[in-house]
Amino acid sequence: MHGADARVSVLEVYYFQEMLADSGEFEVELSKEQQAVLARIAADLARTGLALPGSLSEGYYRCGRATCRCVADPPQLHGPYAMWTRKANNRTVTRRLAEPELSDYRPLFDNAKRLRALIAELQELTLSVVGTPPTSGAKCRPAAGTKVDSSHPPTQSW
Ligand SMILES: [Zn+2]
Repeated sequence: MHGADARVSVLEVYYFQEMLADSGEFEVELSKEQQAVLARIAADLARTGLALPGSLSEGYYRCGRATCRCVADPPQLHGPYAMWTRKANNRTVTRRLAEPELSDYRPLFDNAKRLRALIAELQELTLSVVGTPPTSGAKCRPAAGTKVDSSHPPTQSW
């Protein structure tokens, strides 16, 4: 399984660009540069394949046993290991990945990373389009005692 190999047709890329260019009720004139940046982000987004949530940590570790080779001099640490951590139902789920799984999943973690970078770029671009809002923002916060239901994020986040 190699998510990075996922291909999309040129038609799909165009469709995606159209989708991004159509920002709902928000109408704004983009400069040539901004249009070019938006088109590149859209094309990169359309090319990104499957993406896994959470984070991957890899490395070597000491197990903590006083007589283990990992505390010898010189120490022979355990590993390499890979831990996949993610949130599921408001709980942190950690799973150890074996070497074959890690090679299978790595492109999917890379895709997720690329997605996050692209979203950040898109948000930066949008900020440059709408201008930076005033920083006070006090009245935008929910009033004291208001319950914020974070388990139901807005379905349309962009
Ligand atoms: Zn050990």
